[in-house]
Amino acid sequence: MSTVSLDTPPPAADRAALIATLSHVLPAGALLTDDEDLRPYECDGLSAYRRTPLAVALPASVAEAQAVLRTCHALGVPVVTRGAGTGLSGGALPHAAGVLLSLTRLNRILAIDPVNRTARVEPGVRNLAISQAVAPHGLYYAPDPSSQIACSIGGNVAENAGGVHCLKYGLTVHNILGLELLTVDGERARVGGQALDGPGYDLLALLTGSEGMLAVIVEVTVKLLPRPERAQVVLAAFDSVTAAGAAVAGIIGAGIVPAGLELMDNLAIRAAEDYAQAGYPVDAAAILLCELDGVNEEVSEQILRVRELLRRHGASAVRTARDEAERARFWAGRKAAFPAVGRLAPDYYCMDGTIPRARLAEVLERITALSADYGLAVANVFHAGDGNLHPLILYDANRPGELKRAEEFGGRILELCVAVGGTITGEHGVGMEKIDQMCVQFATAELAQFHAIKHAFDPRGLLNPGKAVPTLHRCAELGAMHVHGGNLPFPDLERF
Ligand SMILES: Cc1cc2nc3c(=O)[nH]c(=O)nc-3n(C[C@H](O)[C@H](O)[C@H](O)COP(=O)(O)OP(=O)(O)OC[C@H]3O[C@@H](n4cnc5c(N)ncnc54)[C@H](O)[C@@H]3O)c2cc1C
Repeated sequence: MSTVSLDTPPPAADRAALIATLSHVLPAGALLTDDEDLRPYECDGLSAYRRTPLAVALPASVAEAQAVLRTCHALGVPVVTRGAGTGLSGGALPHAAGVLLSLTRLNRILAIDPVNRTARVEPGVRNLAISQAVAPHGLYYAPDPSSQIACSIGGNVAENAGGVHCLKYGLTVHNILGLELLTVDGERARVGGQALDGPGYDLLALLTGSEGMLAVIVEVTVKLLPRPERAQVVLAAFDSVTAAGAAVAGIIGAGIVPAGLELMDNLAIRAAEDYAQAGYPVDAAAILLCELDGVNEEVSEQILRVRELLRRHGASAVRTARDEAERARFWAGRKAAFPAVGRLAPDYYCMDGTIPRARLAEVLERITALSADYGLAVANVFHAGDGNLHPLILYDANRPGELKRAEEFGGRILELCVAVGGTITGEHGVGMEKIDQMCVQFATAELAQFHAIKHAFDPRGLLNPGKAVPTLHRCAELGAMHVHGGNLPFPDLERF
C-alpha cells in the first residue's frame, strides 16, 4: 500500500508558478502554502498515511473552485478534493505535487422544499446539519454515518456513505436525487434531477462512490423523509458472537426490517461502556442493538416479535430502552465505539468489508484466529444487518513492524470477505488503503472498464491520482490474485 509513488514534489519553479497563478485567482486567505498551515491537511481519518500537499485551496464559492480547477488543468497539476477529512481509507490523502481542494467553506443550505421533501445543499454542509435544518418541518436525512457530526455531504456522496439506518433506508446513493459537479477542467454540469428515472446513462449512480476521481461535487439535492412517529431500540446480550450472528440472520429471515441492527463484541462493549457509560452489559461476549421505527402500534408489535426471536436464539438478557433518554444512551455507546476503542491502544486500523449475512459467525471466528496469528487484538463493532464488518485492529506504530503487520492482517480480512462472496468495501471506499485488494476483487477486464471510465472523465489523470483503482501493472506485480483466476485466498473455505 505504501509503495504508490505520489511523494515527489515538483521543481521549485513549477511550484512558484502554480502558487503565483492561484494567488491571483483566489482571494486573500483562501490559499495555504506555509508548511505549518499545510500540516493539518496531511492525512484524513487514516492517519497512518501522511503526505504534505503543495498548497491547500479553500474556495468559498463555486466560481472560486472553478478557477482552481482551470488553473490546475492548464498547468497539469493534480487535484485532491477534500471534504471534512474523516475518511478512513486515505481517499483525501494529498498528492505531493498537487493542490488539495478543501470544500469546507462551501457550507450553505441553499433550499429546503418540504412539499417535495428535498433539500439543495453545498458539499461542505455537515451530514447532521441537514437533519437539524429540516427538523422544524418534521423531516430528516436518513443516512447517518457515525461520523455525522463532522463529515460532509460531499464526502458522503464521494464515498457512498452508510450508517446505522441504511439497513432500512439505503445508502447515500438511495437518498440523493441530483448533483452539480465541476469537471476536471472546471466546467459546470448537472446530473440527476427530480424524476425517479431519467434519460441517458445513470451518471448520478456512477458519481456516487467515485472517491473524487471523476469530478468535484459542488451541490447535492438530497431526499428527506418524515420523522417516524416512534423509534425504539432493543438491546440483547449473548454468550457468544456466533449466537449473536445467528440472531441477526433470524431477525432478517423472519421478514422484519429493523431501522438498524448493530453488533459489538466484548472488547468493543467494554471500551464503549468505559467511554460513554451507555449501560451495556460488560460481561456479554456480544450485544445486538436492534432499532425498530414506524407508527406506534407497528413498533409495539415488532418489539414483541424481536424480543421473542432474540430469546429463541439464546440471548441471555433482552432490554427494551425504557425511554428516549435510554435509547439515546444505547446509541451513544455505539456511535462512540471507534474513538472508545482508540483508547485501548496507541493506534487502530479500521477495516471495512461486507459479507453475506449467513457467513457472519464463520467469518468472525476466522478473524479471531487471524488475530492470534498476527499477535494483534481486534475489536468488532459493525452494521450486522447489512453484513458490513468493521474489525478494528489495535497496534502501536512506534513498535517496529507493527504497522506492517496490522496492514497485512487487514488485507487478509478483506480477502476473507471476497472469498465468502462479499466485497472489500461496505461504506468507507477504497482510497489508498484497499487498492491492492481491488486486484483480488476484480478481473483484469473489469478493472480495464474502470480505467476507461476514468479516462472519459479525466483523460490526463489529474483528479485524485493513484487512488481507488489499481493499475493493471500493479495487479500483475501482485500476482494476479483475482478470486476467479484460480489463485484463491483461503482455499479451505466453502466457496460462495
Ligand atoms: C469515527 C468515525 C466513524 C465513521 N463512521 C462511518 C459510518 O458509520 N459510515 C460511513 O459510511 N463512514 C463512516 N466513517 C468514514 C467517513 O466519515 C465517511 O467516509 C465520510 O463520507 C467522509 O466524508 P468527509 O467529508 O470527511 O470526506 P473526506 O474524508 O474529506 O473525503 C473522502 C473522499 O471523498 C472525496 N471527496 C470529498 N468531498 C468531495 C467532493 N465534494 N467532490 C468530490 N470528491 C469529494 C475525497 O477526495 C476522498 O476521496 C467514519 C469515520 C470516522 C472517523
